[in-house]
Amino acid sequence: MRGKDRTICWLVLDGVADRPAPALDGQTPLEAAATPNLDRLAAAGTNGTMDVSRPGTPLSSDRAHTLLFGYDHDEVPGRGVLEATGLDVPVPEGAVACSASFARADATAEGWTVRDRHLDADAADYERTAERVADFETDAATVSFTYTWKNRGIVVLEPTDPDRPLSPAVTDVDPFEVPAPVLDPRPLDAASAPAAAARTAEALAAYTRWTADRLDAEPVDVVLSKWAGAPGPPESFETRHGLRACSLTAKPVLAGLAETLGMAVRTPPDQYAARPDAIADAVDDYEFVHVHYPEPDEVSHAAGPAAKRDEIAAIDETLAPVVDRALAADDLVTVVTADHTTPSTEDVVHSGEPVPVTMVAEGVRTDDVSAVGERPAATGGLGRVRGRDCLRLSRAAADRVLLDGLRRSPANRDYPNQSLTPLSRGP
Ligand SMILES: [Zn+2]
Repeated sequence: MRGKDRTICWLVLDGVADRPAPALDGQTPLEAAATPNLDRLAAAGTNGTMDVSRPGTPLSSDRAHTLLFGYDHDEVPGRGVLEATGLDVPVPEGAVACSASFARADATAEGWTVRDRHLDADAADYERTAERVADFETDAATVSFTYTWKNRGIVVLEPTDPDRPLSPAVTDVDPFEVPAPVLDPRPLDAASAPAAAARTAEALAAYTRWTADRLDAEPVDVVLSKWAGAPGPPESFETRHGLRACSLTAKPVLAGLAETLGMAVRTPPDQYAARPDAIADAVDDYEFVHVHYPEPDEVSHAAGPAAKRDEIAAIDETLAPVVDRALAADDLVTVVTADHTTPSTEDVVHSGEPVPVTMVAEGVRTDDVSAVGERPAATGGLGRVRGRDCLRLSRAAADRVLLDGLRRSPANRDYPNQSLTPLSRGP
């Protein structure tokens, strides 16, 4: 018998999954990279592929992680709130928060056409711009803008009258492509509070027009908002899965998601070589550790398949201590996977192919796979799994799943370490 309950450690290599690249002789960057350490894990474990959402669905990192952490999208606040949380921008109860960015746009007869969404002015210019668009008031809402980083910020709308609430069920102002019109925010058809959604949409439209009218000498023409959300904590990760959890991530939206789910958040060191120590510390302190490596996705977008291959190899080079421990420990379940596919050869954001998964633990069934990569993973013993099942499979390998139907609990939890209510000898 093992003494200590097993800890689960996930290494999520953001967007590491890819398509075959002609520049890499038809291999993917993960297949082409020198990955002796990750290959040791693949050889010692079980391998497969994972549709994080429904097959063929391209996902953003936050929506992918929501599913991987065992939540449906409608259980967590919209991304505006997650980003605000990760960036320490307060969002009061009853408020609506949107992610926002500065953009260049040209006035047309009817409205505005967005020309550039990826600006690179100085932070000082953006801070001055932010002051010009920081405070606005409509009849229904006070609107504030807080500058965060790059050309981004957070727009928070608060109701002026608590009896006339706001709602995050509105569409985006940001068209997310260029050239494209600045969009009219509209209530969602499925809004549960249509009057609140209509008020919110009107306030966002008025704020957007005001920013476009007001910004003239600045290196920015308009504030584009998107991904409205309202605060409201979902059931905690620990309550849902029975695991004290920690996320090592520097990405604000993922830090915000982890914090919203009640997970501890630690910022990993910048240098790859320093991360294994931080991972080891978190594994000692928690029962579930999520380690996020954002770099494969960033390099994929910025520099193409060969650079992505080299970045993956650079990560692998520093992973020896993590892999040594994963292979030696009898109290650890280690998973290596990605949150989505990022095609380094195409001009699309993310794509919907499944991602590879490797799982290593003492006693886990092995297969004939001996290297990480999309092709070998597709032949592995884990088969093809769903994102919502990744945590359950990890918990199963950790023997942290209760025998189905064994013991009813009021909340119908499926993990063994629940608090039980002893029967007293009498009232
Ligand atoms: Zn991602």
